[in-house]
Amino acid sequence: MRHVETPVLVVGGSLVGLSTSLFLAHHGVEHLVVERHPGTAIHPARRS
Ligand SMILES: Cc1cc2nc3c(=O)[nH]c(=O)nc-3n(C[C@H](O)[C@H](O)[C@H](O)COP(=O)(O)OP(=O)(O)OC[C@H]3O[C@@H](n4cnc5c(N)ncnc54)[C@H](O)[C@@H]3O)c2cc1C
Repeated sequence: MRHVETPVLVVGGSLVGLSTSLFLAHHGVEHLVVERHPGTAIHPARRS
């Protein structure tokens, strides 16, 4: 398992997660977004 350290961890790369990532990047805050799905989805609000 790879060990990664980050000051901010954003879990979920959907609407809220990616918006958070955008805002953090805009303010120069180092962060990492993790998303369990490898690609995009055709439906909103992915629960599984
Ligand atoms: C059927 C349906 C139709 C909708 N239609 C509209 C619409 O027309 N217009 C509108 O404005 N809103 C609509 N909504 C609402 C909108 O989709 C949600 O408000 C919005 O997607 C919420 O965004 P979110 O980022 O909070 O959550 P989500 O979109 O649910 O994203 C959460 C993400 O976190 C990931 N995740 C969760 N747990 C983990 C984990 N442990 N590790 C890694 N990744 C994880 C998930 O895979 C997912 O990608 C609809 C919702 C549904 C269910």
